[in-house]
Amino acid sequence: MVEHASWEEVKRFKKFIEKNRNDLIVGVGGGRVLDVSKLAGGETGIPFLSVPTTLSNDGIYSPVAVISFEDGIKSVQTELPLGIVIDVEVIKSAPGIYLLAGVGDLIANMSALKDWELAESEGREKLERIAYLISRDAVESFVEFASNGYDVHSPIFIERLSDGLLASGISMAIAGTSRPASGSEHLISHALDKILEKPLPHGIQTGMATLFTECLRGEDISLLKKTMEKLGFPASPEEVGIKKETFLKAVELGPETRKGRFTILDITGRKEWEEAYKKAFE
Ligand SMILES: [Zn+2]
Repeated sequence: MVEHASWEEVKRFKKFIEKNRNDLIVGVGGGRVLDVSKLAGGETGIPFLSVPTTLSNDGIYSPVAVISFEDGIKSVQTELPLGIVIDVEVIKSAPGIYLLAGVGDLIANMSALKDWELAESEGREKLERIAYLISRDAVESFVEFASNGYDVHSPIFIERLSDGLLASGISMAIAGTSRPASGSEHLISHALDKILEKPLPHGIQTGMATLFTECLRGEDISLLKKTMEKLGFPASPEEVGIKKETFLKAVELGPETRKGRFTILDITGRKEWEEAYKKAFE
């Protein structure tokens, strides 16, 4: 049993694996379990098989483990899982909010890719074209599919959502960075994690923040918003108990949560944020 997604837990499992000379690690559960077993595998050089019980984020098949250390939560780059088993019957019984969180973490790629392009055009980073295309295709084809509106518990929806999240994880593995799936919208979510007493599922926060950052870039989000609403995704931060001021505070603090990740938040300010909030949610 994994208690917390912490470095302490990773060390505990590492010891266990080394003592028992296991040759395969099978992680069965949600994000916390997968993150710990994934990193324990990476640290010991033992292959890891991912068996998610929900599809709440793209960590189900990515080379990144989100782990808390003494000095804060970090995204640690590690090995891509050896494979993944998705049991539709199991996923079907996950609460809808977690499947919507998976949607939110996938659509975040839309925003992340534009931040990556921005960082490249500013000469700060090199964009990895193949990873970029895989991530873009994952999110675009998913949004096109989902625009018809689906019950998030239907097998076809679960299949398409897993496909998208898997491709997202693969794009991160190819890029060697979380860039194709994590930009300004993730920075806002990280800040919300710090500010809110009870943060919402990661993907709900990143999905919401994507609507905001897309408006900040002047994109037309009407179709995206309609699609998300059809699925049951919350329409605004206020709807899930986050006040406008709290959200804008997270926008301001976002860049602090991951220094060096150049995004749209670095070239905009309070006035633009207010306008984008209005466009996205009011
Ligand atoms: Zn994410």
